[in-house]
Amino acid sequence: MKILIIEDEPSLRELMERTLTKEHYIVETAENYAQAEEKLALYNYDCILLDIMLPDGNGLHLLEELKAQDKRESVIIISARDSLEDKILGLEQGADDYLPKPFHLMELTARIRSVIRRSQGNGKKGYTLGNVYLDPESHRVEVEGQELPLLKKEFDILAYFMQRPGHLVDKAVLAEAVWGDHADQADNFHFVYAQMKNLRRKLEEAGATIEIKVVYGFGYKLAVNQ
Ligand code: CA
Repeated sequence: MKILIIEDEPSLRELMERTLTKEHYIVETAENYAQAEEKLALYNYDCILLDIMLPDGNGLHLLEELKAQDKRESVIIISARDSLEDKILGLEQGADDYLPKPFHLMELTARIRSVIRRSQGNGKKGYTLGNVYLDPESHRVEVEGQELPLLKKEFDILAYFMQRPGHLVDKAVLAEAVWGDHADQADNFHFVYAQMKNLRRKLEEAGATIEIKVVYGFGYKLAVNQ
């Protein structure tokens, strides 16, 4: 799960970044409108935390742009301007939630979990595919009901694929989703190959009926074996 924090206030930005990293999210930050605009054009996120008053623009315009581009990201507005008008405007423009500053960090993480869960549909907690179950909240993976211990990146890779079964995933796109922005521009993808190899081996050894297949020259695809 990848989050973009758009916030110009350094101490709050860093505090949120630290907190969410501890919660196992992949966290990216933008400190102004221009940076946020650039990141949103290049990368995808699961959730965006959006400050309204930015030094070089209004966060609500960014939200407008995002919706015009038909982006699917969940958006939570975080604003010091606890005005009803902002809240209504933001929600009308398609924000998923609104959190007035100052807020409690526990409240922030709860709201993030809730909008991500909602965007994944029906308040369902985890993903099931074949005999594999993955719960993004508790970071638990089960194969045939038995827990499968995975390292953090292995879990992130599997979570990414379980949300997109059957999709062909480019290794650069995967690198960006799991390792963060700019990983897609790496000179080589050895870090992806190594983790992927271990994950595929673990799934196979556990008797999983799903398999991340290599599509040569392109990337990977999650398939259910009959
Ligand atoms: Ca601000």
